Amino acid sequence: MDVTDIIQTASLPEVIDKAAAYLMHHGWGTLLEFVRPGSRLYVWALVGALALAAISFRLYHSEGEGESEGEGKGKRGTIRRFLAYCFPRAVWTHPSAVLDYKLFVMNRLLGPLIPFSTIGLTAALSYWLAKFLNTHLGVFPHSLPWNAWSIGAVSIVYIVVGDFLEFVLHWAQHRIPVLWRLHRVHHSAETLTPITLFRVHPFLDVFFNKPMRAGMLGVLGGVLFYLFFQGNGRPVVLVPLVTFQMLFNVLGSNLRHSHIWLSYGWVASHVFVSPAMHQIHHSIAPEHLYKNLGVSFSVWDWLFGTLYIPRQREQLTFGLEAGASQAHPSLWKVYTEPFI
Ligand SMILES: [Zn+2]
Ligand SMILES: [Zn+2]
Repeated sequence: MDVTDIIQTASLPEVIDKAAAYLMHHGWGTLLEFVRPGSRLYVWALVGALALAAISFRLYHSEGEGESEGEGKGKRGTIRRFLAYCFPRAVWTHPSAVLDYKLFVMNRLLGPLIPFSTIGLTAALSYWLAKFLNTHLGVFPHSLPWNAWSIGAVSIVYIVVGDFLEFVLHWAQHRIPVLWRLHRVHHSAETLTPITLFRVHPFLDVFFNKPMRAGMLGVLGGVLFYLFFQGNGRPVVLVPLVTFQMLFNVLGSNLRHSHIWLSYGWVASHVFVSPAMHQIHHSIAPEHLYKNLGVSFSVWDWLFGTLYIPRQREQLTFGLEAGASQAHPSLWKVYTEPFI
């Protein structure tokens, strides 16, 4: 297929679908996600996901289960069974997963059209607010000295409060009808793969998530800079933040959107969101509705009564509701359905 083939296509929905397939074929821009350290698809994050998948394989995939003709026994057979466990065709080539891939490419393509960067806006707002407070209120008398300890302590506050703000944003997407219409796109996925993370309506990101995130984190950063560093923020404060993000990514964030079950156990699940807990968030079972809205820390769910910790491995069905037909069978529907 080439560009003329796309242009000659008659209907707009088909053009969008074909354009996405064309871009996927040529892989434009999408490869960047694999070399960007903050990305969940960064190569080490994928290696980490495979290592955790191996733990899940040992725990939940008993010897011989799923063994079929030709897989054989011994080391080779185990590797084959592990790969079959991680990459079942029924999941990775499911129409829902294929739509995720198309949306991933399309949203990346639309990315440069978004006229601001969240990190840039957050940093600018933080610096401006810290300077403003310094000028109008005077230097805060109990400021911390600028050293590794103080940066570490302030970073922990930033990470914890920042994660709470993410929880609030996610809660709003489920509870405010106009936001839910857009967030539904993420929840209509019937199979989960790490690419499902990118299954989002672009309007939700452009008009809600990014500006809200930049605004709230920008104000938080500004207040912290004022209170702790005499109003002087320096880019070095991003180091612990990015390290935490990378650690989070390596420690299984990719398994959240997958069929691979991994729980952190009853105690740790009160603090951290395990992959199994986010899979429960995608489940259509009534008892799982509105549960596990947290991103990194589950304490917010615990505090606000939306925590659901599985006692054992559960069989889950993902999607919007039982028996309902797929609300987003094509890219065209993804983009238009929330407005119909
Ligand atoms: Zn959700
Ligand atoms: Zn999700």
